[in-house]
Amino acid sequence: VELALEVEDLVMHFGPVRAVDGVTLRIKQGSVVALVGESGSGKSTVGRCIVRLLEPTDGTVQLAGVDITHLSRRQLRQHRRNVSIVFQDPAGSLDPRFTVGDIVGEPLRLMRRKDIPAKVREALRRVGLRPEVAQRAPHELSGGQRQRVSIARALISEPRLLVADEPTSALDVSVQASVLNLLADLQRDLGFACLFITHDLSAVEYLADEVAVMYLGQLVEQGPRARIFGNPSHPYTQALLSAAPVPDPAEQRARRPVLLGDDLPSAIDPPPGCRFHTRCPVAVDKCRTVVPVTRTIGEAGHQVACHLVNDDGTGPDVRPTKGV
Ligand code: SF4
Ligand code: MG
Repeated sequence: VELALEVEDLVMHFGPVRAVDGVTLRIKQGSVVALVGESGSGKSTVGRCIVRLLEPTDGTVQLAGVDITHLSRRQLRQHRRNVSIVFQDPAGSLDPRFTVGDIVGEPLRLMRRKDIPAKVREALRRVGLRPEVAQRAPHELSGGQRQRVSIARALISEPRLLVADEPTSALDVSVQASVLNLLADLQRDLGFACLFITHDLSAVEYLADEVAVMYLGQLVEQGPRARIFGNPSHPYTQALLSAAPVPDPAEQRARRPVLLGDDLPSAIDPPPGCRFHTRCPVAVDKCRTVVPVTRTIGEAGHQVACHLVNDDGTGPDVRPTKGV
């Protein structure tokens, strides 16, 4: 299978802060991988390395087979069209000095394309905005409309990969679903691959083909969505999912979230051994000293890093039994 993205042993340190510490991740052409975890786990930093807003400390990032890890600004320009990013806060990412039309068309101008106004109109139409919006300034639009503008801009160059970093979490709850639906429709119609960075697990269930769970700069579990939701193996994944809202109020009441207690430990001096051991309800002595290796368990593509998970995927379950 052709890969849209191949991240190998990615490391991003900011001085003493080990924000990302050895992340390996692949995204197949046209598929959606959700990157989930608490805030501060390093998810956004992974996204920024992939679009090369950050130059990684170590490891490699390949986009459609091209290693972009250390390309210069000038070299990067040729690969810009392969990847785009949509940020959490559309207000912060749209320059107020320009019109919507200028903003959406800018990637094409950098690529010296022709017929930009027509392409801008088409890009706006795709995201559900009328052509007149091109004349407006971003601050004249609502939050939801501004996020549609960022999406139009991100997709106008027809990238193979879209990094969407919490694309709906800064929006009013009332418009979150429509922007999420839009992304899902565009992904299906245009077929780009997507790294969907989020802590909204109901959005993950709706949008993602695969799920990667991040904890303190590292991936602890990844695999097909149905497998992760139906059969989470890592105690952290189990805790995360137990706290996720579900549509059925009765089931919601019956679910008892696993309480993780303390906050996420500091990425300056992460715990030795398994980084999750300070909060893991089933930690054993070994967890405090020995780093668990990432292994494939059960069906292909399901990977987990935990000493107590067996090769067939069975192992600890930290969730209290559901119901009464
Ligand atoms: Fe918990 Fe140990 Fe597994 Fe880490 S390796 S998740 S501390 S049981
Ligand atoms: Mg973030």
